[in-house]
Amino acid sequence: MITATTETRKFEAEVAQVLHLVTHSLYSHKDIFLRELVSNASDACDKLRFESIAQPQWLSDDSELRIDISVDKEARTLSVHDNGIGMSRDELIANLGTIASSGTRRYLESLAAESKADSRLIGQFGVGFYSAFVVADKVTVVSRRAGSDAAEGVRWESDGKGEYTLDTLDVARRGTTVVLHLKEDESEFLEAWKVRSLVSRYSEHIGFPIRMPKEVDGKPGDEWEVVNSASALWTRPKNELADTDYQNFYKSLSHDFSDALAWTHNRVEGNQNFTSLLFVPAKAPFDFMNGREERKGLKLYIRRVFIMDASEQLLPAYLRFVRGVVDSDDLPLNVSREILQQNRQVERIKGACTKRVLDLLDKLAKDEADKYVTFWNAFGGVLKEGIAEDAGNRERIAKLLRFASTHSEGTAPSVSLDDYIGRMQVGQDVIWYITADSHAAAKGSPQLESLRAKGVEVLLMSDRIDEWMAGYLTEYAGKKLRHVGKGEIELDAADAEAHKASEEAASGVVAKLKELLGERVSDVKVSRRLTESPSCLVLDEYDMALHLRRVLKQSGHEMPDSAPVLEINPAHALLKRLEAEADPERSKDLALLLLEQAQVAEGAQLDDPAAFVRRLNRILLGTPTA
Ligand code: ADP
Ligand code: MG
Repeated sequence: MITATTETRKFEAEVAQVLHLVTHSLYSHKDIFLRELVSNASDACDKLRFESIAQPQWLSDDSELRIDISVDKEARTLSVHDNGIGMSRDELIANLGTIASSGTRRYLESLAAESKADSRLIGQFGVGFYSAFVVADKVTVVSRRAGSDAAEGVRWESDGKGEYTLDTLDVARRGTTVVLHLKEDESEFLEAWKVRSLVSRYSEHIGFPIRMPKEVDGKPGDEWEVVNSASALWTRPKNELADTDYQNFYKSLSHDFSDALAWTHNRVEGNQNFTSLLFVPAKAPFDFMNGREERKGLKLYIRRVFIMDASEQLLPAYLRFVRGVVDSDDLPLNVSREILQQNRQVERIKGACTKRVLDLLDKLAKDEADKYVTFWNAFGGVLKEGIAEDAGNRERIAKLLRFASTHSEGTAPSVSLDDYIGRMQVGQDVIWYITADSHAAAKGSPQLESLRAKGVEVLLMSDRIDEWMAGYLTEYAGKKLRHVGKGEIELDAADAEAHKASEEAASGVVAKLKELLGERVSDVKVSRRLTESPSCLVLDEYDMALHLRRVLKQSGHEMPDSAPVLEINPAHALLKRLEAEADPERSKDLALLLLEQAQVAEGAQLDDPAAFVRRLNRILLGTPTA
C-alpha cells in the first residue's frame, strides 16, 4: 500500500556536486558500483548482527543474514537486497540525501581549495552509494528498519539530478532493496554471468552469503543459490588462500582500485586468541595526511561479529595507513569504544599488530626493495612519527628509515642507517646529518664542507618532520646521531693543533667581527666546519634548527629571540680583506655581508633585503663610502 503523499526533496548542494563528479569521473571504473552496493548490504547485516546482541528478537524472526542479487531483463533492472538493519525515513534522508562520509567532505574541500584538483582522485576513496548513478538513470531504494512496523516502510527514489522523492509504503520484512534502472547502454549488467563474475571478483569473501537465482534453461528460476564463498576470509587457513584471494579481499575492504603492497595474516593462540589480517596499501589516499584525528581502516570483529572500526584503538597513529581486520575470541561482545580505550587485552592486541606490521615492513625492505621504495614514498613521512611516538619500537622503526645522503645519487631517500654505518670511516663514531628547508639547501650547506672534504657521509634531511624526529633519534645501534650545524665538532689530534694555531692567528679578525656585528650574533668563532665558504651559522647542540624556528614563528608560536653563532673561515680571501680593511664603513659592510650570506645559505629571509643589496653593490663596485 502506498500513501498518496509523495514528498520531494532536494539533495544537499554538495551531494549534487559529488554525484556530478562521480558519474563523470568513475566511468572507467563503473564496475565498482556493485562492490559498493554489496559492501553496504554487508555493513547493514553486520550492524543488525551487532544490534541483535541487545535486541535478539530483531534477528530471530529472519535469522539467516544474506544478500540477494537479481536482474530483470524486461524491466531493465538490477536489484541488491539485504535483510540487514534497514533504514527509517529519517535515516534515508540523512544517509542518502546528504554527505555522510567525512572523506567525501574533505575531498570537496580540497577541490574548492585547489581548483585544478584532479577529479580522478575521487576513485581513491569509497564513493559508496552514489556510484549507482554511473550505470543507472534512476535508483529506487525500499527499506524497513529492524524493529519497526511494516507500515513504516519507505521508498526513496531519484534520477541523481538534484532531487529525490520519499513515499511511505508497507514493507513485509526488515532490510533494504536497492533497484538500479540501468541506462540504455549498460545492458551488460543485465547478464547474470556478468554479475556473477563481478561478485566473485569483488565480493567473494564478504562474510555473508550472496545469492542469485539459479538458472533454468538459461533463465533465472525460482530457486536461489549462493555464489560467493561467504566465509570471512581471515578465518580460513593461509595455505588455502591464493594471493588473488587476499588482493580481492583487500580491495573490497579498502575500496582501493589497486593491489595492496603486502599483507600479514596471523592467528595468535594462548592467553589471548585472535586473528589479524593486516594490509599495507601501495599508495596513500589523497586526504591521508589530514587523517590523524578520525582514523579508519582497521575493523574489529569479536567471534566473527563486526563491532566497529577500531583503528585508533588497535594501531598506533604512525601506522594509520594499515588496512585490515582483527577478530578477537576473548573480548566481550558488548565492548564499547571507551572500554577499548583502556582494556589491557586491547593493549596487547595493539602491541602484537604493531609488531606484525613492523616485521612485515622489515621483510619487505630486505626481500623486495622495489616495493619498499613504493612504501617509503607513500608512507615514509608517517612512519617517521613513530620515532617520537613509540619509544619502545624506536630502534626497529629507525632501521626502516631511508634518507638522502651526500653519498647517494639524486634526491631520492635511499640510504638506511645500517647502510650508513657500514660505510663509516675508521675511527668515525658519529652518524652525521643535516636538516634544512630543501634538499638543495641541505646538500649545499657550508656547514658540511669539512666533513665532505674528508669524505665523511652526511645524511641530508629536508622533510618538515625531520628536525622534530631527529630530536628523538639521538642514537642508533650504539652510535650517536649529530647535526653538522649544531654544537662543537671535534676533529682528530692533528686537526686540533692546526685549529688552535688558526684561532690564534685569527683573533684580530674575530674581535673585529664581534665588535661590528654586536648583538646580531651571540658569538664569532673560527670554524672547523668550513673549507670553501667564508662563513656559516651554527647552533648549540640542543637548539632548534633555524628553518623550523621560522615555520613555528610563522604559524604564530612565541619564539624566544636567540642570536646564532657565526663561524668563519679565516683562510678565505674575504676574511683577509676584512682584516686588512681600514675604512670603518667598508668594514661594517663586509662584516654584515658575511653574516647575511650565511643566513641566505641556510635558507633564511633577510630582515632588510634592500639594505643587503645596497651593501653588496657598494662592495662590488668598490664605491667610496664617504
Ligand atoms: P559509506 O558506506 O562509506 O558510509 P555509502 O555512500 O556507501 O557510504 O552509504 C551511505 C550510508 O547509507 C551508509 O553509511 C549507511 O548508513 C546507509 N546505507 C547504504 N546502503 C545501506 C543498506 N543496504 N542498508 C542500510 N543502510 C545503508
Ligand atoms: Mg558504502
